[in-house]
Amino acid sequence: MLLPEIDFAYDEPDVGYQKVRLHFNENLFLPEEYYRAVAAPLEPWEVRYYTDPNNKKLAAAIERYLGLPQGSVVITAGADEGLRLAMQLAAHMGRGIVIVEPTYGMARVVARQVGLRPQIATYGGDLSLDVDGILKLGAGAVYLCSPNNPTAHLVKEVEELAAKFNGLVILDSAYAEFAGYWRPRFYEYGNVAEVRTFSKAWGLAGLRVGYVVAYGKLAEALRALSPPHPISSLSAKIVERALEVGRPYVERSVEEVKEVREWVLPQIQAEKFAGPVNFVTLKVQEAEGVAGLLEKRGFVVRVLGGKPLCPACIRFTLAPRPIMERFLQ
Ligand code: PMP
Repeated sequence: MLLPEIDFAYDEPDVGYQKVRLHFNENLFLPEEYYRAVAAPLEPWEVRYYTDPNNKKLAAAIERYLGLPQGSVVITAGADEGLRLAMQLAAHMGRGIVIVEPTYGMARVVARQVGLRPQIATYGGDLSLDVDGILKLGAGAVYLCSPNNPTAHLVKEVEELAAKFNGLVILDSAYAEFAGYWRPRFYEYGNVAEVRTFSKAWGLAGLRVGYVVAYGKLAEALRALSPPHPISSLSAKIVERALEVGRPYVERSVEEVKEVREWVLPQIQAEKFAGPVNFVTLKVQEAEGVAGLLEKRGFVVRVLGGKPLCPACIRFTLAPRPIMERFLQ
């Protein structure tokens, strides 16, 4: 059997839990009380049965919660599975995909996993997006992320792209709530699949729950590519509960993230990417070396190498102030 030669492995280091883990951008600001509140109603026998097909009950709860049209939410196992569904659809469409970089590394990985060979476009030095340049590439889909990981900026040109592009826009909005955007904004264009998650602002990364918001036939096409029971009954229940009782905690944590960000940023002299998110990306001379030194002191950060605009960077998650004080030292 001839296997494809492309490299689609995702190599994840196991960093151990005794270190302060600042490398994955989880929300580190939610109190134990929140987790106790959202996990409260679990009953052990609920795992006996499958969930309802496509987790439609949870999808409907999210639609009601966000005031979205019926059928517009497709539940996925984290935003990563949302990316996979959208990219699988792009693969079926057969006209390839453009990924705008620097961005979330999994975008390239997932594209390759579903058999796409992505074309790479890059943000300008001022982080602008050349929409016409992208259209000229002639692809059937574009992936972009806003606020973008790792540059943290809000992409200003999403509407222009959605309006001009006769193809699928995969908009990864994993961090949108940190920027104050609780409700998806672009799905009404009809060609935008907005990928969202409970892993970031909602602080539930371990549950693996995300969703894609899309309009009409696009939502139906994405649902058709989904497995029948994408998330567990326990995860669904906890997320339903988070929607009922969690918002005040999450909003407070988003506010605290902002306060810590505004306190941290002026203290960092290095050139940086910073925006309305819960992480900061710093340009450094030698990223591996800096990350190694930090790790010796108990902090795990993300090394970003070889990316456009960011040939050597480290990225760290913002954490509550006592941790950041030690980190900055
Ligand atoms: N998109 C972006 C931009 C991310 O940074 C991440 C998480 N690092 C994801 C998607 C994946 O999130 P999830 O845990 O929901 O799969």
